[in-house]
Amino acid sequence: MFDVEKIRLDFPLLSQQVNGQPLVYLDSAATSQKPHCVINATSAFYQNENANVHRGRHSLSEQATHAYEQGRITIAHFFAVHANELVWTKGATESINLIAHGLQSRIKKGDKIAISLLEHHANIVPWQQLAQLTGAEIIALPLTLDNRLDAHACCEFINTWQPKIVAITHASNALGNITDIAPILNTCRQISAISVVDGAQAAMHLRPNLSNLGCDFYVFSAHKMLGPTGLGGLYGRHELLNSLSVYQTGGEMIEHVSLTHSTFRPAPAKFEAGTPNIAAVIAFTQAIKYLQLLDVNAVSDYEKRLFNYAVKRLSSIDGITILSDCEHNIGNLSFNYRDEHPYDLATLLDSYGVAVRSGHHCAQPLMSELNVVGTIRASFAFYNTQQDVDRFIDALIASIELLD
Ligand code: PMP
Repeated sequence: MFDVEKIRLDFPLLSQQVNGQPLVYLDSAATSQKPHCVINATSAFYQNENANVHRGRHSLSEQATHAYEQGRITIAHFFAVHANELVWTKGATESINLIAHGLQSRIKKGDKIAISLLEHHANIVPWQQLAQLTGAEIIALPLTLDNRLDAHACCEFINTWQPKIVAITHASNALGNITDIAPILNTCRQISAISVVDGAQAAMHLRPNLSNLGCDFYVFSAHKMLGPTGLGGLYGRHELLNSLSVYQTGGEMIEHVSLTHSTFRPAPAKFEAGTPNIAAVIAFTQAIKYLQLLDVNAVSDYEKRLFNYAVKRLSSIDGITILSDCEHNIGNLSFNYRDEHPYDLATLLDSYGVAVRSGHHCAQPLMSELNVVGTIRASFAFYNTQQDVDRFIDALIASIELLD
C-alpha cells in the first residue's frame, strides 16, 4: 500500500500556495522536488562538516572524503555497478560532453554516430560537435508513426549502418516515451558500437540495473532524482571509461606534474578535476537512500495508475491532442489544445497554481518532426496525487473556456 499523503510530508515545498492556490507541481521532468533529508544534509554539511576532500590529513577533511566516496558507493549500488565506474559531473549535459570529447581520438572521417529524433539537445549537440571535429556523420534512428523508438527497427538500422557510436535516450523528456533499450544495446555489442544511454529522465522512474543492461555509458542528473542541482554523473564500463581522453585538467585528477608534463590518475579520478560539489554528493546520497527505502513496485504501480487517470481525464476534453505514447511512459504527458500556443495555456494554468512546462523542451528536432512549435507537458512523480490531476484538469478546462 502506497501512502502518498505520508510521502508528501517529506517534501516541504509541495504544501505551499502559488498565486493564492494550492501548488500542483507537474514539472518533475524539469526538476524533482527535494525531501527533507536532502535539504537537511545540505545544511548539515555546511554547518558541521564542511572541508575539502582528498586533500587534508585533518579529521574534517578525512570525514568529508569518506562521506563523498561513500556517496559514490551508494549511487553505484543503486545502478548495480562498481564505484570506480561512476564519475561525478555537474549534470547529464556535462556527462555527455565529457564522453563525446573523450571519444574524439576513436572517431574518424566517414564514421557514423547514431542518435534519434527523441533526443534532448544535450544528447544531440555534443555529437554534432564531435562530428564536425572529426568528419563523422550523424544519422538518425527511425521513429515509429507514434513517435517511439521501435527496438526491432533500431536493431535493423544499426546492423545496416554500422555506426561507431549509438547515443539514445532511455526515456524522452518531451514525451515521456520509454525506449526498449536492452535489444538495442545487445545489437550495439554485437557490432562493437559504443553505446551511450541518456538516463536523465528514466533513472528515477525505471531504476535501471546497468550491469544487466550492458551499456557502455549511462548518464544522469541528480536534480531529477530528488537530489540537488549542479550534480550529475555517468557510469562508464571501466576499461572503456579509463581509455577516454581527459575532459578537464587541473588539480586532483593528476598523478604527477612537472612543468612540462603530467600523468593522470585512473578513472574515475582522472575525470574529476578541481574541487567537486561535495555537499551535493552528500545530499544526493540521502536522496538515493530515500528512494531505496520506498517499495519500488508500489511506487511504479502508483505512478502508472496516476498517469492513466490523467490520460483518461485529459483525453475526454474536446480539442486536446496527446502526443505521448501513453502505454510505455515514465509519466510525462505532452499535449496541445487545438492550435493554441502552449505558452498561453501554461500561463493560464499557472494562475490556478498549476506548474507545467511548455515549449520545445530542448527537443527542437522532435518538435519539427511532430510539426508543432511546442507542447504542454504535465510530468508526474510519486508525490503527486489524484487530487493534483483533478485540479490540473479543472484548471485546464477553465483556461480553455477563457481562450475560446
Ligand atoms: N537529457 C534529458 C532527457 C533531459 O531531460 C535533460 C534535462 N532536461 C538533460 C539531458 C540535461 O540534463 P541537465 O540539464 O541536468 O544537464
